[in-house]
Amino acid sequence: MRNTLYLLVAILIIGLQSCETTPETITPPAYALVIHGGAGVIKAANMTAEMDSSYRVSLAEALDAGKNILENGGTSLDAVSVVISILEDNPLFNAGRGAVFNEQGFIEHDASIMLGSDRNAGAVGAVRNIKNPILAARLVMEESKHVFLVREGAEQFAALKGLQIVDPSWFMVNKQREKYEQTKNTQPEREFPLGEKHGTVGAVALDNFGNLAAGTSTGGMHFKQSGRLGDTPVIGAGTYADNESCAVSATGHGEFFIRYAVAHDLVARMKYGGQSLEEAAEQVVMQELVNSDAGGGIIAIDKVGNICMKFNTPGMFRASVKAGEEPYIGLYADPKTAKKE
Ligand code: ASP
Repeated sequence: MRNTLYLLVAILIIGLQSCETTPETITPPAYALVIHGGAGVIKAANMTAEMDSSYRVSLAEALDAGKNILENGGTSLDAVSVVISILEDNPLFNAGRGAVFNEQGFIEHDASIMLGSDRNAGAVGAVRNIKNPILAARLVMEESKHVFLVREGAEQFAALKGLQIVDPSWFMVNKQREKYEQTKNTQPEREFPLGEKHGTVGAVALDNFGNLAAGTSTGGMHFKQSGRLGDTPVIGAGTYADNESCAVSATGHGEFFIRYAVAHDLVARMKYGGQSLEEAAEQVVMQELVNSDAGGGIIAIDKVGNICMKFNTPGMFRASVKAGEEPYIGLYADPKTAKKE
């Protein structure tokens, strides 16, 4: 009886944590997948029931596609690429179709992808006509001798490799055009309207072979300066994967995520500092970034399949699933843990 009580209390405590901590001796699950659709001022009070449900349905669809790949023995790299392509095609998110406009009225996409087994990586920056920037990032990784290509060079490479090229108008949706016009008419020059930044997409996965992968894709910050690159395509800032520690995808105010090398900082804290994923994420996201007034969050999976979804904003679109477990979908924070507006 007493043992049962202890067990129940232990289960409750584990359930309340935002990140899990499984000792490394435990066999990793057959697979695990976490995805995000950006962090920011995402509050139940600002959402209609339809919006709330559209986000949940969209996250569930993307998660399910990744889960199917992993369940059927596919790789974490394939799961990450497919999930992110689906979210890029979804106009609800600030990546691919539906991305934000820069101050000149163009859309410039950033994306990156990384494999934990050999730390191979690929990225594209400020590309304007590649339908799925994450697939271009993957091609840079797999079929070029470089890690990072930008603008026309990246676009020409993607076209040469047979990726779908679209007219830039394909990405433009009315909601973002209106937001751009409104900012242009009301904002002083070159100021970020802070606090509304969300919609970047990302995914991290652990597959049956024990390989981690991470990827992130975005239109960047609304009304950004033309040519600005954020953290999303910067390996070590917005994306990182290392089979010895974890896979990370970040979202938030990119300038801070670059300066603090957020994704690699998590890896380094685990690898060299002996911290758990939960400890590392808590210190980086809830202390360092909060102390600098930098809003955002991360999703991560460690090498034994512990999942972490940590953010300091009122919400982060997120979903996760593990072999043998029910999927989780969340939009809002517990009000007690949201520190930044
Ligand atoms: N991190 C992205 C950037 O700075 C924006 C975001 O995640 O919302 O470009």
